[in-house]
Amino acid sequence: MSEHGRRFVIAGAGIAGLTLALALAKFGASVTVLERRPRIDEFGAGLQISPNARRILDRLGASRYLMPHMHLPGAIDIYPIWRKHRPLASLELGSVMQQRFGAPYGVMHRADLVEALHQACKRFATIDVLFGVKNVDFAHHAHGFTVLVEEADGKSRTIRPFAYIGADGVHSATRTDLVAGPKSRYGGYVAWRALIEIKDLPEAFNTANTSLLWGPDFHGVVYPLPHRGVANLVLLTRMSERRARQARDGRPFMAPNAMQRSPLFVHMLDRAPKLTPWPLYEVSTRVWHKGVVGLVGDAAHAMLPFQAQGAAMAIEDAAVLAPLLMTHAEPETAYQAYARIRLGRMARVARLSAWNGQIFHLGWPLGYLRDLAVFAQGRRAHLKRLGWIYSYDPAPEPQLAPARPFETM
Ligand SMILES: Cc1cc2nc3c(=O)[nH]c(=O)nc-3n(C[C@H](O)[C@H](O)[C@H](O)COP(=O)(O)OP(=O)(O)OC[C@H]3O[C@@H](n4cnc5c(N)ncnc54)[C@H](O)[C@@H]3O)c2cc1C
Repeated sequence: MSEHGRRFVIAGAGIAGLTLALALAKFGASVTVLERRPRIDEFGAGLQISPNARRILDRLGASRYLMPHMHLPGAIDIYPIWRKHRPLASLELGSVMQQRFGAPYGVMHRADLVEALHQACKRFATIDVLFGVKNVDFAHHAHGFTVLVEEADGKSRTIRPFAYIGADGVHSATRTDLVAGPKSRYGGYVAWRALIEIKDLPEAFNTANTSLLWGPDFHGVVYPLPHRGVANLVLLTRMSERRARQARDGRPFMAPNAMQRSPLFVHMLDRAPKLTPWPLYEVSTRVWHKGVVGLVGDAAHAMLPFQAQGAAMAIEDAAVLAPLLMTHAEPETAYQAYARIRLGRMARVARLSAWNGQIFHLGWPLGYLRDLAVFAQGRRAHLKRLGWIYSYDPAPEPQLAPARPFETM
């Protein structure tokens, strides 16, 4: 088999699946993406897209589809519970991100990002995204692996891919059923998400910036999505898994008492139409592949979102894995190299995310010491502290011929 014209099947048309499809198609591969939902829908809310992810999306030609939906906040303004009128600190984003890391730090709605990736995929005749897939079966045989797909309209198709990649999210069936990996584990927190009119944000806020609020046992993140005329609000609190599963749309129950003392939060909660609870699950495993089957994105390593890096890690995965799958003779060795490159970084980012949760939720007196440290560190210290995340560049891409039109194998 020539390295070009290889065929792949990806389960899941989310951020990981569509970015991987683009990255593979860029090297001339044929890709079928199987999505169980009937269309790209509005689930999820805002996402912060840091320069490490944005540089990859730029290279994949997705920028022009992203740009109309992305907002570039000038800073992250931090409001501890005792600050009502002005932020304690403003961590610069804006042009300094572009200068230091070669790409901006943006925010957008998750559905707009997925739609932008889908639009970018449509440029390739070699990418086929099938929505509303009803059933997928697998058959192993002496000369490979066959995927049997029952499509939305009841038709079926049989594909013999070089590799099958699960990009099917935190509760991935590919991980549990095909790779013999573990189930996801409850992370101990619930994210309460809402979209709120920008005019309803507290007057104290600079509505062009991201605002980070913290107090004992909770924190919140707010940023504008001006292209939709709303702001993304997410409130994070600890909760048992049993209570988290019972939570329904509305005002967050079990909200920490301290939150009621945050006038900024109370102002927003009074105006938010409803908050949707989102129990947070994690995946921690070194088992990312078995035979021709591999995992990317949340399916491999879902993490707590307190460093806003889950989607960025999915995008990085795609950029690392695609050239390996196109150059190795066997998928298994490509996956081994991918795991070697990615496991350490992923564990480090996941640890930092979990640690942020501890720091953001500190009470008296440690919370006060945290605030003093944040105040003292100034507007740009985070650029140095987080430089290892934002400056990451996947291994240089091998020289492969550019994409060409669809061909059968
Ligand atoms: C509150 C919160 C805030 C966050 N904020 C950020 C942020 O600011 N920045 C950031 O980088 N990350 C953030 N994240 C993380 C980010 O949302 C995820 O890491 C990212 O969406 C993972 O993408 P994915 O494509 O791997 O999975 P998903 O987005 O879950 O996509 C999986 C896709 O697979 C499909 N699917 C599932 N099962 C099957 C199946 N059996 N067959 C076919 N298709 C299937 C699903 O329908 C879905 O379309 C946040 C997460 C949360 C919860």
